[in-house]
Amino acid sequence: MIKFLDLQKITAKYQDELHLAVQRVVNSGWYLQGKENEQFEKDYATYTTTKHAIGVANGLDALIWILRAYIEMGVMQEGDEVIVPANTYIASILAITENNLVPVLVEPSLDTLQIDDTLIEKAITKRTKAIMIVHLYGQCAYTQKIADICKQYNLKLIEDNAQAHGCLYNGKKTGSLGDAAGHSFYPGKNLGAFGDAGAVTTDDDVLADTVRALANYGSRKKYVFEYTGRNSRLDEIQVAVLSVKLKYLDSDTALRKEVAKKYLQGINHPDIILPQISDWDAHVFHLFPIRTHRRNELQQYLLDNGIQTIIHYPIPPHQQACYSEWNQLHFPITELIHEQELSLPMSPVLDDNEIQSIINTINAF
Ligand SMILES: *Cc1c(COP(=O)(O)O)cnc(C)c1O
Repeated sequence: MIKFLDLQKITAKYQDELHLAVQRVVNSGWYLQGKENEQFEKDYATYTTTKHAIGVANGLDALIWILRAYIEMGVMQEGDEVIVPANTYIASILAITENNLVPVLVEPSLDTLQIDDTLIEKAITKRTKAIMIVHLYGQCAYTQKIADICKQYNLKLIEDNAQAHGCLYNGKKTGSLGDAAGHSFYPGKNLGAFGDAGAVTTDDDVLADTVRALANYGSRKKYVFEYTGRNSRLDEIQVAVLSVKLKYLDSDTALRKEVAKKYLQGINHPDIILPQISDWDAHVFHLFPIRTHRRNELQQYLLDNGIQTIIHYPIPPHQQACYSEWNQLHFPITELIHEQELSLPMSPVLDDNEIQSIINTINAF
């Protein structure tokens, strides 16, 4: 069986260093908000070329805290609108509704599967306060047009960078392109911990300070509480793991690109639409999404031939039970993507035999 994502194999690659890192924390007797966090926050800020990185419990919290901090700072109020792609993973939207803000869904472009920047302006109202772009599948969603719109309408630009660690736009890292970014280090992400973990990056001193307080019970000083925050801290063991993996992120991304190149060169089937890559720096291939009107049939066929694939995602947010108020709405592009998308195995540890076997099996479909 060729696994969709072989986490065991990914961990094995750095096993000795990972063991040492975890052992170091175990022996230190200090398990939360210590030296490991301090160092990782510095390293991750440097990596993303931002002034601040703040470790939090997971990627969803990272996005929740950014919006909550803007509310606490008086930049936004409950009921304000945030523009977000209609085809994103639900977490982006949950972060908005969790703060009693209103998500305004905008269709993606079928070429890039990223938010269609030509549709954004029409979605802006007096209550719009931010655009949340999502670098979905590991591809940069930022465009100059989006930056111009934010400037013109005085909107905050928030990046959901859960899937695109190390991605570049004109040489600049995702996570540093907007006003603030949320990152996830869920085990299956390109930079993954041994459990839940996340971070916020920003150049904004006040936002950074507020996020840090919110994620630590709303406290800046021990036993003094300024906000009704929560416990959303990142623990030292996860951070020690991330510090090891961060060193290899760029080389692992290069290996993902090799897999993508082979797929793009090798897969040739009239029923299959491959992703269009215009800029190889602007994609880190968290996933390799193909489209076909025979999606379910192809997935079963690949499984029968020992190849595991995953659909990202089977049900769009506006058709989920948790957002029943949107169930009557139609987003045709989003719905089409959800009917046709299939993610092929993608990771830095897929070997040439596996890649070739996947290509040959697909071409014989
Ligand atoms: C994974 C993911 C998140 C949430 O991250 P968690 O760490 O699982 O909370 C948010 N947005 C997107 C696009 C994601 O893929």
